[in-house]
Amino acid sequence: MLVDLHCHSNVSDGLLPPAEVSRRAAGNGVELLALTDHDDVAGLSEARAAAEERGMRFIDGSEISVSWRDDASFHVVGLGIDPGSAILLGGLQSIRDGRDGRAHRIAGELEKCGIHGAYEGAARYAEKASIISRAHFARFLVERKISPDVKSVFDHYLAKGKPGYVPHEWASLEEALRWIGNAGGVAVLAHPLRYRVSRDELRVFLGEFRDRGGQGIEVACGAHSADEVKESARLARHFGLKASVASDFHGPGESYADLGRAPPLPDDLVPIWRDLI
Ligand code: AMP
Ligand code: MN
Ligand code: MN
Ligand code: MN
Repeated sequence: MLVDLHCHSNVSDGLLPPAEVSRRAAGNGVELLALTDHDDVAGLSEARAAAEERGMRFIDGSEISVSWRDDASFHVVGLGIDPGSAILLGGLQSIRDGRDGRAHRIAGELEKCGIHGAYEGAARYAEKASIISRAHFARFLVERKISPDVKSVFDHYLAKGKPGYVPHEWASLEEALRWIGNAGGVAVLAHPLRYRVSRDELRVFLGEFRDRGGQGIEVACGAHSADEVKESARLARHFGLKASVASDFHGPGESYADLGRAPPLPDDLVPIWRDLI
């Protein structure tokens, strides 16, 4: 079965409306899809309707931004969540509420680099979205020809340690896991090898994640090289976590992988979706 359990629509920082994400996934042969917009569930009903119209199975999801220890952040994907859960909705709203102030602080840092109007510019790219993400800033900086593409904006301005980066307090791990659990979902660590933490810190995080009820880890991830898929598979085995498949698609031409085009999953791992369909 062709599975993709991590992607974005223009409800967060993807480029396509939710229904178009589902249609594109169906066109790529995906049979089981989860939409996982950052810190929101607003696109799920539209995406589900379009998915089911095309005969695809659909899982409700969201990718939750988490702060951990001093200054690390992780993304935890909730899958099989009830999008009507009041506790989950309240939690996601609290994260979204913090994003606007952060966007102003990012724009303030970019202003110091001589880049003017970045808040308004990013907000324009986020017109249909319920959040402003760094991806929206990146698109504006590309438009202004400050960098040639989104990736180089991150490398020079928006990644941790770069001049436009600002620290931010997201949800705690405990909160994210509680919201997902209350909504009847399972928690999956997104793109485990894409965080700016040491391997030792990643292992400490994964131990805590698993001990607090986290159940899965993205192994076959669009942003992972073949070696990184193998390393994530070792982490899944070591921590007894189920494995997920994730393109992390944001839009045509902007992502490592198109919908349904994540690398294959090593076949000894337990797929996270077995219990969800
Ligand atoms: P935020 O949640 O506002 O911190 O933005 C995070 C988003 O920025 C991710 O979900 C990606 O969409 C995008 N992003 C982060 N790092 C990169 C990168 N190196 N290249 C391209 N996009 C990135
Ligand atoms: Mn994103
Ligand atoms: Mn992410
Ligand atoms: Mn993502």
